[in-house]
Amino acid sequence: MTVPMDMQPAGPGPAKIGRRGLMLVLSSPSGAGKTTIARRMLQRNSSLTMSVSVTTRPMRPGEVDGVDYHFIDRERFEQMVAERQLLEHARVFGNYYGTPKEPVEQALAKGREILFDIDWQGTQQLAENARDDLVSVFVLPPSAKELERRLYARAQDSAEVIAGRMAKASDEMSHYFDYDYVIVNHDIESSVQQVQTILEAERLKRRRQVGLADFVRQLQDGL
Ligand code: 5GP
Repeated sequence: MTVPMDMQPAGPGPAKIGRRGLMLVLSSPSGAGKTTIARRMLQRNSSLTMSVSVTTRPMRPGEVDGVDYHFIDRERFEQMVAERQLLEHARVFGNYYGTPKEPVEQALAKGREILFDIDWQGTQQLAENARDDLVSVFVLPPSAKELERRLYARAQDSAEVIAGRMAKASDEMSHYFDYDYVIVNHDIESSVQQVQTILEAERLKRRRQVGLADFVRQLQDGL
């Protein structure tokens, strides 16, 4: 049906509500399942981009340079720190890790969401520098036994490395307190659904919706 000219809305079309990007951080002790959660979140959300960290640790079997990490040597890492190319960086299990700044800034400027798999030290640094854009989620394993089972099942690290990770897990877990949300990963599907719910609620935060004032004004004008 054609709407008569005098009944059509005047001026430029309806005001649009845009979205400001956000930084979604997932942290957990190794083996709690956050990498799987992250992968599924990326499949489900086309607006979500993974932040690919740099690391000095050796590549594990199956890992791809530029996808899982950018594998770099210590010298290059120090250079990136000195040139302030990293948004945050930390030493974890004797290796160095950091988040390249530029891709994150570009993604945020486009209103995209970025997913980070980083530890509590990195999360703390992001919280200091970009609190308003940060949403942090800590993933806990359902039990100590299950954490150990998952670490062995992964079979990517030596027994010595696994023992080191178990010893560190207790220390890492104590940092749950600094996070906005905490999930106990009993079952991967429900955990993914919970992170999805967090993301959807966080998108609706008033400060992340751009153009609300114009939208509401237009609604009021129409009353
Ligand atoms: P993995 O060596 O098992 O891939 O990672 C070891 C730990 O380093 C994990 O807890 C992971 O979240 C953390 N990590 C990975 N990339 C970064 C990063 O860029 N910054 C920080 N702070 N931690 C990271």
